[in-house]
Amino acid sequence: MPPRRAASTKTAPKRDRSSSLSDYSEPESKPEPKKRAPPKAKAKATATTTAKPKAAKAAKFPPPGLDAASHPARSGLPAFQFTETKENGAIGPRDPSLPLFVGAHVSMAGGPATALLRASKAGANGLALFVKSQRKWASKDYEPEVIEQWKELAKSKDDGGMGYNPESILVHGGYLINLSNNDETKWNQSYECFRDDIHRCHQLGIKLYNWHPGSTLGNISKEEGYKLVAKGINKVHKDVPEVITVIENMANAGSNILGTAFADLKGMIDLVEDKSRVRVCLDTCHTFAAGYDLRTPEAYAATMKEFDEVVGNKYLGGIHLNDSKTDLGSNKDLHENIGLGQIGLDGFRQLMRDPLMVGIPIVLETPSGPAGAVENGDLEIWAKEIKLLYEIQAISDDEWETKKVDIEARWRKERDAISPPKETTKKAAPAKKAAPAKKAAAPKKASKKKVVESESEMSDGDSE
Ligand SMILES: [Zn+2]
Ligand SMILES: [Zn+2]
Repeated sequence: MPPRRAASTKTAPKRDRSSSLSDYSEPESKPEPKKRAPPKAKAKATATTTAKPKAAKAAKFPPPGLDAASHPARSGLPAFQFTETKENGAIGPRDPSLPLFVGAHVSMAGGPATALLRASKAGANGLALFVKSQRKWASKDYEPEVIEQWKELAKSKDDGGMGYNPESILVHGGYLINLSNNDETKWNQSYECFRDDIHRCHQLGIKLYNWHPGSTLGNISKEEGYKLVAKGINKVHKDVPEVITVIENMANAGSNILGTAFADLKGMIDLVEDKSRVRVCLDTCHTFAAGYDLRTPEAYAATMKEFDEVVGNKYLGGIHLNDSKTDLGSNKDLHENIGLGQIGLDGFRQLMRDPLMVGIPIVLETPSGPAGAVENGDLEIWAKEIKLLYEIQAISDDEWETKKVDIEARWRKERDAISPPKETTKKAAPAKKAAPAKKAAAPKKASKKKVVESESEMSDGDSE
């Protein structure tokens, strides 16, 4: 497949959207087609044909509360809403058949297929997931039924699956991978973890894989780092077919980490042999923290113009949608819920109205719910955040200025009700709920050696 287009709608109909489109445009009141067999039954059917210990495992699928058939209709809307917003600068009318794939990075606890169920429960039109433990070098291979579960649910709705468009699913790679490490042994270890991630994507039939380009650790120049990353990309393109490698931009400008400047992304892409299999994922928090403003329509337009000029819109393969707790150019990677950080609702409304965002995964990696409430807190917040994003993009320019203050206040209240701000949580329930947050943050300060060794991992914090 050639690199992605800019806002061209000419290439779009070639992509297979037919199955998923009908899913996205179904009104919520329309009853779900009943022909889809419950995944549980399918998993059991598969399991009975295999060995007994595996059957026991498969019987747990799907986990409680994640039965696809009982999920509410997805709240995502097709892009035809936007045609009302007319031409204003970079934002214009778009092909009414194109959907936005707004979703979230959901847990795969219980197997990759559970991520599809969680995304659906959150009303997501797209999703991200890890395909193995993101903090381990190696994980055991998939059992055949794990792949089967994914493939059953990943089918189109007409075929009894959940109808997620292949272009809407973006796997996130492991945090340990550092392909810009010039130590040969460590590079090889990183490459194997990287290749294994991508091999798993291929096993599941997933098209898009994003990961962090890593850190030179100060041992080599950035340009040498680009070569090492490109070496890994070129090698994996030969070792594993089809999967598209998507480089994520990073927050820590001025450090040894690659990908903080658009020029870094171009530097790596330039050295990739098969450019049809390389794209870029822009994380809005990382972009902003690295010094590219997104707060106003003008700032958003200027940043995206620079991206097009330096990297090229055709390479945009995904978005990580996060507000930032810290200010423009802070070089810190601290994700905040949409509109409640330093970027603010204006920037996200602008992004949601940008035709460039059509047909690519737009993935929330925003803070989760209270500790221990992953299944409910996260999904509830993301469900509300997804609705909010569709809500703000649909408001006309004339109405926006008068409405945005109320919308932000309402959303902050909703968010705080599900997930009180950390300070409040600590005071309210110091014994249980604050503990996991402390634990997660501790290694950054506690062990400086570890931070240096795994800079690429730490750079992105706990928030992808
Ligand atoms: Zn990431
Ligand atoms: Zn990200």
